[in-house]
Amino acid sequence: MDVQLAIVGAGPAGLTAYIYAARARLKTALIDKLGAGGQVLTTDWVENYPGFPEGISGYDLSQQFLKHAQRFGLEPVIGEVQKLVRENKAFLLETSQGPIRAQAVIVATGARPNRLGVPGEEELTGKGVSYCATCDGPFFLNQVIAVVGGGNTAVQEALYLTRFAQKVFLIHRRDRLRATKILQERALAHEKIQIIWDTVVERIEGQTEVEAIQLYNRKTGQRSRLEVGGVFIFVGIIPQADFIGPELVDKDDRGFIITDAEMATKTPGLFAAGDVRVKACRQIVTACGDGACAAYQAEQYLDSLA
Ligand SMILES: Cc1cc2nc3c(=O)[nH]c(=O)nc-3n(C[C@H](O)[C@H](O)[C@H](O)COP(=O)(O)OP(=O)(O)OC[C@H]3O[C@@H](n4cnc5c(N)ncnc54)[C@H](O)[C@@H]3O)c2cc1C
Repeated sequence: MDVQLAIVGAGPAGLTAYIYAARARLKTALIDKLGAGGQVLTTDWVENYPGFPEGISGYDLSQQFLKHAQRFGLEPVIGEVQKLVRENKAFLLETSQGPIRAQAVIVATGARPNRLGVPGEEELTGKGVSYCATCDGPFFLNQVIAVVGGGNTAVQEALYLTRFAQKVFLIHRRDRLRATKILQERALAHEKIQIIWDTVVERIEGQTEVEAIQLYNRKTGQRSRLEVGGVFIFVGIIPQADFIGPELVDKDDRGFIITDAEMATKTPGLFAAGDVRVKACRQIVTACGDGACAAYQAEQYLDSLA
């Protein structure tokens, strides 16, 4: 397939970039390994995206984004980009669906959840260890569960899990939450949530499914065992950018792509947008902003080639 612009990733950044590119009449391909939606699909409720004063479910919001892009002709390619290379002055994307050649590329591949990296985590993933409350929450009806983390996602998802669980222990390694104040207030006031401060998970135990977690209090040095039926882990994200080498982009020490304020990487014609790039605030609204900006810059770049 030969196109002017290839967009990799159909989360909020990629779908917004598509809408802008399609309205600029660019011949555009948008490819995603899972279909459209990105991380928004795993979000129960979004109450900070403008235009939805009552909030909107993550699923519904992602469907609105998709519908909007489809109005401008989107036919997403379902496939994984395995490698991105420079070919003459253009780009070659090696994908699971065959090669795509493009004059310009926007990388909007987002991020995936970080692992705790403790014994038992890998073996018990899908057997009580989860990284997605909307996907797995209903399996934990009336159970005692743990949520690990202290940022927005951890607190928001702990609150969501109170719908199902009998009790939610929120395990945080510091003595205060990082989450935004309104979420902190809700968690602190919630009768089903108990926060365990200054504590890390050292091990997840269970024969065929999660039975307990071993905890270590970083202030007192005490170790304890907590019986839980599930562990939800929200301890940050890692970028999905392994398919791009250092000859094309610079990355920070965690692997996020470095861009300028206009989403340009060090390679002319190659842009990055959304959670995959180095930035302070990784949210749906900022991903959309990045996508719009990257598409605008790609259009300018393609014009400069003509
Ligand atoms: C549980 C949870 C709750 C959240 N709650 C909120 C909230 O309330 N409000 C808010 O503003 N933000 C929230 N966020 C953050 C928000 O979802 C992200 O900031 C946003 O989705 C980033 O969009 P993106 O387009 O950059 O990337 P993503 O949404 O991560 O989308 C990237 C897409 O790229 C695809 N992809 C990756 N690699 C490849 C490849 N090699 N080939 C092809 N396709 C690929 C993926 O399949 C994915 O669809 C939440 C996140 C999580 C996980």
